[in-house]
Amino acid sequence: MKGTQIEALSYQAPQTLGDDIFSLAGRLFPICRSITGQGVRTTLRLLQAVVPLKIHEVPTGTQVFDWIIPSEWNIRDAYIKDRSGRRIVDFQKSNLHVVNYSVPVCASMPLAALKPHLHSRPELPNAIPYRTSYYDRQWGFCLSHKQFQSLRDDRYDVVIDSTLENGSLTYGEFFHPGATRDEFLLSAHVCHPSLANDNCSGLALLAILAATLSKTKTRYSYRFVFAPGTIGAIAWLWRNRERAQYIKHGLVVSCVGDAGGPTYKRSRIGNAQIDRVMAHIVRRTGPSSKVVDFFPYGYDERQYCSPGFNLPVGSFCRSQYGTFPEYHTSADNLDLIRSEYLASSFDIIADAINTVENNHDAVLSHQQMCELQLGKWELYDALRQQGTQTDLMTLLWVLNLADGTRSLLDIAERADAPFSKVFSAFQILRSKGLVAGSAVDGST
Ligand code: ZN
Repeated sequence: MKGTQIEALSYQAPQTLGDDIFSLAGRLFPICRSITGQGVRTTLRLLQAVVPLKIHEVPTGTQVFDWIIPSEWNIRDAYIKDRSGRRIVDFQKSNLHVVNYSVPVCASMPLAALKPHLHSRPELPNAIPYRTSYYDRQWGFCLSHKQFQSLRDDRYDVVIDSTLENGSLTYGEFFHPGATRDEFLLSAHVCHPSLANDNCSGLALLAILAATLSKTKTRYSYRFVFAPGTIGAIAWLWRNRERAQYIKHGLVVSCVGDAGGPTYKRSRIGNAQIDRVMAHIVRRTGPSSKVVDFFPYGYDERQYCSPGFNLPVGSFCRSQYGTFPEYHTSADNLDLIRSEYLASSFDIIADAINTVENNHDAVLSHQQMCELQLGKWELYDALRQQGTQTDLMTLLWVLNLADGTRSLLDIAERADAPFSKVFSAFQILRSKGLVAGSAVDGST
């Protein structure tokens, strides 16, 4: 396998990349998704136009670890009408108006009886909050606090035309085979209705990343999972519990389109290769970047990092969930996300993929005693060549640390240099037969 050249992600058209992700997120945005139902299927079908996802159905009632796949929820309409027959709260205007997974209701009631079913956020008086009630059978409406305060003491007609029936939970999966069985998992939750950053941004980014990767030759195999939060990831892990051992790196991706962060949350392991790679990349992006330790809350990293799996799966976002004011409200709309931030998030994940793809272990220079005479080996010429992506200092770091005990990632960390520069210096030295190292697929 000597000399195998696998360049993971030399993707084209970076100018339109952010716009492409934004446009796909925009098409996903209006759909009313939940943990089960047609909304998830419609979403996955839209993603299939970008990448050939395989769609899986897990029947209602299936036991998955400590959980049971719940009923399938579908909704056609919902509203609150005042006495004049006017829809004052209308699901057709925003699917956030209905508590997600609400049981059906058709009733007339005074405001006092309706009030316990109404949800608003006084601290965000103009935004409709996003609420769910999956495992506690309820119904309810969400509305802006401003509207809530304006409701008159009157009788209201209340309708939620939903169904909760036997059906299935749906998830989508795309697998890109690489040179080895070892896998890189990329996972995004697909259960939120009209919220742009959380998580139309993550779904769109990963679909376009999957399509990009599918055209390249990789060392690792790549598995993309688009599943409903919590129960979807649990169902996926149940069905793939034997195969999970091949996951060597992973990222849960959400909230990747806003101006904050970027933020990386470590896996439960804490110092897995993905933790080191992401910390190395994210910290170099600027002063608002953040690397935080694992904690047992958040998105599906909770399942992937449960002790029985303990997979090296971290979580990547820009502003971390729960920390931005628009989070889980109607203010998380397409105005919150921007092409440039989506493109930047894509670049960070692509950088992580390139790093694990091109990392080499046991990097060894053939000249261990004293420095090489760089001129003799035409290394100054090589550094001066057009398109060279490294510099003399990085080259000197590689030569000095190439004692057979370190990986290229170790060298990048010690040199405090972007991995791509270190890899480029390694490639120059390797092309002249001056250093060697071994990649994950056994190539040198
Ligand atoms: Zn969320």
